[in-house]
Amino acid sequence: MNDIVISASGLRKSFPLSRGLIERISRQPALAVHALNDVSFALYRGETLGIVGESGCGKSTLARCLVRLHELDHGEIHFEGRDIAALAGSARRAFNRRVQMIFQDPYSSLNPRMTVRAILTEALSVHAMRAAAEIPARIAELLDLVRLPQDAADRYPHAFSGGQRQRIGIARALAVEPEVLVADELVSALDLSVQAQVVNLLLDLQQRLDLTVVFVAHDLRLVRHISHRVAVMYLGKIVEIGPSESLFTASQHPYTRALLAAAPELDPSKRSRKIAAKGELPSPIHPPTGCLFNTRCPYAFERCFTERPQLSDRSANHQAACHLTHFDEKDSVK
Ligand code: SF4
Repeated sequence: MNDIVISASGLRKSFPLSRGLIERISRQPALAVHALNDVSFALYRGETLGIVGESGCGKSTLARCLVRLHELDHGEIHFEGRDIAALAGSARRAFNRRVQMIFQDPYSSLNPRMTVRAILTEALSVHAMRAAAEIPARIAELLDLVRLPQDAADRYPHAFSGGQRQRIGIARALAVEPEVLVADELVSALDLSVQAQVVNLLLDLQQRLDLTVVFVAHDLRLVRHISHRVAVMYLGKIVEIGPSESLFTASQHPYTRALLAAAPELDPSKRSRKIAAKGELPSPIHPPTGCLFNTRCPYAFERCFTERPQLSDRSANHQAACHLTHFDEKDSVK
């Protein structure tokens, strides 16, 4: 797993808030939600990288930046060594085909006036993936791939359950034979039993088609199940990244430990500390100075309020952004 497909460095993205009349008259400075605060990572060919964090941590913004649905304020994303912001013409179209996003909401991402056949035909035609005569056979293949019956082709999205609609969304993404799939909260709108089916399908497809997958979710159990590596985000920054098992059994950041302690389904015997993050998530409009986690961290000390920690090596391929390298429960500030 040494071949880097996507590398991201120093990503920053803010969304300006609209100002009311009083703010404009009194010339108060414009405020912005800081969604990404210096995100860097590499995505290796053939891996599934899970991105996990609380709602509002920036993971969906990151997913959208990876497929250029959002333009960055700062930083660069390279796909196979080329800056995606500089891609134009046929190179941009090739990137759009090779890196596909699957959206969170299967209810709104499919055109209700198009049959599944029309949806897939459109996807196949946009990038001229097949000659017209070959399209019916390819649609049959795609339905097989996502385990939908052949008669699904002539039905409309409203005739399907949520899980089936998400399969249609996956088939649409696969129609253009991508190499990278970015799945943003793919199953969070689905019932638990259906979630497992869709996640298992994605696992199977990843192996059969040799896909590289970015799997964005807030559910730790799902991320652990599906990912080779996991990145934990907090207030727009990756605070820990490492191999899935190592991150779940030997987490190196107090926030990851808090997330694990708050996940009742995980095996308690595998948790080294029961630490919960105190207080509320700070506003992304005014993120804390120093360590972004300092307002909730039970270990925070003086340096944490002045200096923002950067990711540093903890073990093989495992990095964490914390000034501490060992956590002793007696050192925690209650
Ligand atoms: Fe906690 Fe300080 Fe580490 Fe941040 S740097 S996670 S505040 S101990």
